[in-house]
Amino acid sequence: MDELTAPGLLPAAAGAARYRSTRGAAGGDFASVLLGGLAPDGGLYVPEAWPKLEFPALAGLRYAPLAARVIEPFAGEDLPLARLCADSYAGFAHPATVPLVQLDTGLFVLELFHGPTLAFKDLALGLLGRLFDHVLAERGERITIVGATSGDTGSAAIEACRGRERIAIAILHPRGRVSEVQRRQMTTVRAPNVLNLAVEGDFDDCQALVKAMFADAAFRERLRLSAVNSINWARIAAQIPYYVAAAMALGAPGRAVDFAVPTGNFGNVLAAWAARRMGLPVGRLVVASNRNDILARFLAANDMSRRPVEPSLSPSMDIGVSSNFERLLFELLRRDAEATARVMADFAHGGRMAVPQPAWMEAASLFHGHRIDDAETIEEMRRVHRASGYVADPHTAVALAAARTAASPSRPMIVAATAHPAKFPDAVERAIGIRPALPPALADLYDRPEDYRAVPNDLAEVQRAVLAFASRNNG
Ligand SMILES: *Cc1c(COP(=O)(O)O)cnc(C)c1O
Repeated sequence: MDELTAPGLLPAAAGAARYRSTRGAAGGDFASVLLGGLAPDGGLYVPEAWPKLEFPALAGLRYAPLAARVIEPFAGEDLPLARLCADSYAGFAHPATVPLVQLDTGLFVLELFHGPTLAFKDLALGLLGRLFDHVLAERGERITIVGATSGDTGSAAIEACRGRERIAIAILHPRGRVSEVQRRQMTTVRAPNVLNLAVEGDFDDCQALVKAMFADAAFRERLRLSAVNSINWARIAAQIPYYVAAAMALGAPGRAVDFAVPTGNFGNVLAAWAARRMGLPVGRLVVASNRNDILARFLAANDMSRRPVEPSLSPSMDIGVSSNFERLLFELLRRDAEATARVMADFAHGGRMAVPQPAWMEAASLFHGHRIDDAETIEEMRRVHRASGYVADPHTAVALAAARTAASPSRPMIVAATAHPAKFPDAVERAIGIRPALPPALADLYDRPEDYRAVPNDLAEVQRAVLAFASRNNG
């Protein structure tokens, strides 16, 4: 094992876990990192030390208590994690919460889409909403959550925050660039603490607007802004348990597994990496990209360069920049915050990330990247359906295709299935001629009235809209 993956190099955090920014600033405890989102120096919060998984204590647990145990070293013992996890996962439509489905010898799909909005983001965001509420109630505070979404984050965040007393939530989505199901899951939630803004631009424009709002100190303070995008450390922490649960179901820690993850922002696959860093025996980590392939280009040729975002059949991975990569970069640079800050400043300036050769080589040995285009995505959905009868959504299909290029006969391959096929009915129908039905809880989605506001890609206008909404909601 190399230095980055050897478990127990750093002592497990004693008592409450502490955090720091990838760019050097000291962070506080879990609650302040949860509420803060992005670090004040523009970096991302990371734990001071990686805890070790205690496998004997996890064996035989159901998903919610397992998740609470895996997350606890990051959160400290003061939070009622067992109760919050039980609450978060109670509404999932499958008794196993995250069931494994076998497609072939050595090939498994980890279904992460049985939550209320049918995508894997429910696993982290449902817990986040409850954590926020708990911490804010204790402090007697309120916050405004502002986020950008390419589809699934927004609906899962809104679902997690709707009606919560201490939270107002404003979500920006790129107008006309999210699927109708995704848009309706956001815009049909009629709660006074929810604002949907449809921005004339792409997802990166939305993300840039959110970053700019956070960078405006006066605005940030006045509204008590907080983030739920995958830059929030608590989200990464909440995505680690399902990798642990799946690997243990197939024999970990006695047997190693591989994972293939469809990713854009590098959030979900970073959580898999974190599980490995904590001692989960993982062989290969497959990073699956669509045509927006910045990660695949980086892993193949150390080409981490920004390109225009192109719409694809897997819109939740349509990104130009993988925000969470900074956390891996920090580790690859041996936790040198100054060097990390330098690389990130160059990248922001020139659009190309100069990752030092040894760090890139280490990344390329840890991760296997693969990209496929839309035609290959359709072909993969067709192929899998023909071979096993399984109906995969386009994101899952991207990972299934990538997994085939990296499978090893000595380890089971687990593919993260990140969305229910009914979220992307047009692509599924095009591939296999079957239009997947929405589950009963969402059956009337197309009949519910929508509520959203269209805004130009303009910071001042967006800030005005968010301010008016937050004042109304908190007043
Ligand atoms: C968000 C999302 C992804 C990508 O997740 P990352 O945070 O970029 O790793 C993949 N598939 C679906 C369905 C998603 O909603």
